[in-house]
Amino acid sequence: MARYIGPQCRLCRREGEKLFLKGMRCDTVKCAITKRKYPPGQFTWGRGKLSKYGIQFREKQKVKRFYGILERQFQNYFGRAERQKGNTGENLLNMLERRLDNVVYLLTFAASRKSARQLILHGHITVNNKKVDIASYLIKVGDVVKPKNNEISQNIVKANIELVKGRNIPAWIQFRTDALEGVVTQLPTREDSSVPVQEQLIVELCSK
Ligand code: SF4
Repeated sequence: MARYIGPQCRLCRREGEKLFLKGMRCDTVKCAITKRKYPPGQFTWGRGKLSKYGIQFREKQKVKRFYGILERQFQNYFGRAERQKGNTGENLLNMLERRLDNVVYLLTFAASRKSARQLILHGHITVNNKKVDIASYLIKVGDVVKPKNNEISQNIVKANIELVKGRNIPAWIQFRTDALEGVVTQLPTREDSSVPVQEQLIVELCSK
């Protein structure tokens, strides 16, 4: 009998790289890409080599899937990245890395970026002691991210931390275990972004 693979796993396999969209499952042998490295679908073997456009497009899709954003949001981020000083591709990734849902995920408050978004939308997360229910909120240096000061929110976060114990927290966020909070000590750089992508190809595609 065919084994069910969730839509996100199919996306990972289509990109040919692990995008870590499914939380704990991604680090187990259940990961669909570990089991089958070829893309989903019946006729994928005969697809042949991708064109230059195809490769650029795939890199863009990868970023969107990794951070869970839609085309319109992506275009907004790209426009902002272009207007900033410096390398557009790096600006883009650094901005995406600063999204609140990504920070909540990195702090191990949630097993995946998707569940981090859900935590935020359900009002369990505060930034500088104020509830923030916007997943795209961009954190700044000095911001303190923590669960809401009530038993339910704290217990959810504590359970998630326990679940993903051992996952590394990047150096630009300081996790204070006792206070159950994360402090942003510096802005992320390109090296801090773990998305397996060649951002220059995205810039070439979107600047046309
Ligand atoms: Fe699925 Fe995660 Fe493996 Fe991607 S990395 S195929 S989301 S289990």
